Amino acid sequence: MSAARAASSAESSYPRYARVALPLPLQQTFSYGIPRALASVVPGCRVKVRFGFRVLIGCVVEVEDVAPALPPETRILPILTSLDSEPVLEEEQLALAQWIADYYLAPPGEVLRGFLPPETGRAGTQVYRRTEAASEAPLRGGTLRARVLLALEKPMTPRALQRAVGSKSVGGALRFLVDAGLVERIEKLPSASIPQIWAAALTEKGRQALEKEPLKATTARVLTLLATATDPVPLRTIRSELGLKAGPFRTLRKRDYIRLLKQEALPQSPWSRLGSASQEAITPTAAQSRVISQIEESMRAREFSVTVLHGVTGSGKTEIYLRAVESALAADRTSLLLVPEIALTPQLARLLRQRFKSQVAILHSALGTGERRDEWWRIRRGEARVVVGARAAVLAPLRNIGLIVVDEEQEGSYKQEEAPRYNARDVAIKRAQVAGAVAVLGSATPSLESYTHALEGRYRLATLPERIAGRPLARVRLIDMKDVVREEGAETILSQPLRAAIEERTSAGEQALVLLNRRGYATHLVCRECGLPANCTECSVALTLHQKGRLAVCHYCGLGRPTPTHCDMCRGEYLHQRGYGTERVEEILKESFPKIRVSRMDRDTMRRKGSYEDLLSRFASGEIDLLVGTQMLAKGHDFPAVTLVGVLAADVGLGAPDFRAAERTFQLLTQVSGRAGRGARAGEVMIQTFCPDHYALRHASAQDYRGFYEEEMSFRRALRYPPGVYIINVILEGVEMSAATRQARRVAQELNRANLTGAEVLGPAFAARSKVAGRYRCQILLKVARPRHQEVRRKLRTLMEDPELAKVMTVDVDPTTLH
Ligand code: ADP
Ligand code: ZN
Repeated sequence: MSAARAASSAESSYPRYARVALPLPLQQTFSYGIPRALASVVPGCRVKVRFGFRVLIGCVVEVEDVAPALPPETRILPILTSLDSEPVLEEEQLALAQWIADYYLAPPGEVLRGFLPPETGRAGTQVYRRTEAASEAPLRGGTLRARVLLALEKPMTPRALQRAVGSKSVGGALRFLVDAGLVERIEKLPSASIPQIWAAALTEKGRQALEKEPLKATTARVLTLLATATDPVPLRTIRSELGLKAGPFRTLRKRDYIRLLKQEALPQSPWSRLGSASQEAITPTAAQSRVISQIEESMRAREFSVTVLHGVTGSGKTEIYLRAVESALAADRTSLLLVPEIALTPQLARLLRQRFKSQVAILHSALGTGERRDEWWRIRRGEARVVVGARAAVLAPLRNIGLIVVDEEQEGSYKQEEAPRYNARDVAIKRAQVAGAVAVLGSATPSLESYTHALEGRYRLATLPERIAGRPLARVRLIDMKDVVREEGAETILSQPLRAAIEERTSAGEQALVLLNRRGYATHLVCRECGLPANCTECSVALTLHQKGRLAVCHYCGLGRPTPTHCDMCRGEYLHQRGYGTERVEEILKESFPKIRVSRMDRDTMRRKGSYEDLLSRFASGEIDLLVGTQMLAKGHDFPAVTLVGVLAADVGLGAPDFRAAERTFQLLTQVSGRAGRGARAGEVMIQTFCPDHYALRHASAQDYRGFYEEEMSFRRALRYPPGVYIINVILEGVEMSAATRQARRVAQELNRANLTGAEVLGPAFAARSKVAGRYRCQILLKVARPRHQEVRRKLRTLMEDPELAKVMTVDVDPTTLH
């Protein structure tokens, strides 16, 4: 397809042509002509081009001397301007982007957007300034060029420059000066002002509106989110949680449903929020040293390798990462460290910062725009040579990478659940391969995929079987809730042994964590007459009750309403709240232990910017005795005073219609158990469950990774699930059920007809969530033996190029969940 049709000013031929990736949800790139004046355009430069009626900023991925073959009647449009006098992306990054687009069937322009400097596409980020060479320039005083040069002592946008020299026509002079190397165009650095974060809070009127008035879906979702939050919520968080491009915030404020407030002005640098960590010098243990020298050896050889670092919780994996960074720096190479969640960056960043000072940059989406842009350019310019961040940091503009660490590599959060649907762990491995770098995948519970690669010799395996200083792993005890229910009653949430342990530990000045991986107050609203649960009107999902049971919220689409008083199905009046979530457990703990200081950590309480760090630092300093929360609690923290971990409803995840359910449960339980007894005093873990005999629970309580691995692998082999095969999930959506099923049948038919060798086509069937946000969802699951993957992807790509299918079809390569 060509760039555009109606082009009056277009020339018919150009000295060179560019393929440009545009930020559009389309599979292809577009051809443009490079005018003579834009000689500096090469792959990796950002350019402005006309696309239909719009002007877009894209990235050049290829430059050719010959005109591309286009259908007759199409004329090639010229590139309008270039944003960069030298490319912002290197060949290595372009190659990686190409791989991501290809492997995940993702639009190349959307992939590249993640690689480009933050804020690409916003106006006014480009400024001009004088170069060093200009001080010796032989320009006479009166000319426009000289005046421009004089004015550009300070960096300026073209508009400011026009004002400064009192002339509208500075363009020619600028171009001359840039060509002569006297002026350069740079990315404008963030202003010194403190970024302002706007947040919203629900007003009384908003609360009433949510209870009484029929509201538009988006309005209802925004108000629901605010109603369940414990603090004002940043507008950015609302948009991202609800998947909105823009929120109806102004309208809502006009109606007095919400209040907008400027949230605590953030300090300028992401660093000042970190506080200071003081850590004594650490001498690596023998086990650590072995792994470190193995990594160093690979690094010295400058060859690509992947090491799976399987270390039990508290075995000192972090120290290995730090030493590896040290040797990368010594070899004059850069390092990238990925953590599974934004919230985990400060801890690692603090340690890195302590050792490597200003060479460290943090990169993640929760930074203010100025901060992010600043960090991005520090990395790009080579001032920061160690980068730590969450998923998207895998695309950071590092050059000469020697080391990529993926901590907790098994985490599902590395997978991006919107286009481009890449898994940052796998992209990291590919990036290491492209760069000839060492990848380290750290985990106490490696994914089945990574561990299998290691056992079969494609990756190296490094093991840390013991905790530092010979500290024992916590003692784990399974509490069978069938017995508890018999002895203590059907409504029991906290068993007697767990209560006693909480009492005992906290009164001894120790701390406790209570994990329940399900937020809200009650998990179902069930009709006593017809037995059906109240579902979301837009999704095939049961409503969760929040706010002490007053508000019924869909955890899929965010829609909420006052808790119904009648059954939607039979109009029955006796509705019964069943199941419990973290909000309820917090209430129970506070009632049962009035002397204990209890706080809750889940998505509802952690929406305010910085609240996570606040809470953790209050817990670390002993202001809080007990934290109750969801899986957020389980990861990465190192709190030496925690000696007790309680897990409620440990089997919640097992019921999920997903082949990874057991693996996830095992991982979560092992992780959270690893939070106990990391200090001098030994730890204890109590896991409440109705199925203590399930192998995921048995092996988790024995802290036996290998045992779990073997048993789970035999299921995966028998049922043909990864890691033995690769799966691709194809979802067809539609507002009409019939349209969705028709399209799904058509796609399945096409796939079957293509006779793809080594591929199994399952479905179509309704997806596990057969309806989400008012759209019906059908699923086709492809199971593929590795060598034919490419052929399958090619076929899928052809299907996605069909304009009708493009709109309703989602392809998820290597999905982490099958919902
Ligand atoms: P993991 O990430 O494997 O769960 P950490 O890296 O958090 O474990 O290490 C656990 C604790 O042990 C940390 O407090 C860390 O500072 C400490 N530690 C690590 N290595 C050593 C060592 N060689 N000597 C003493 N303490 C260490
Ligand atoms: Zn819903």
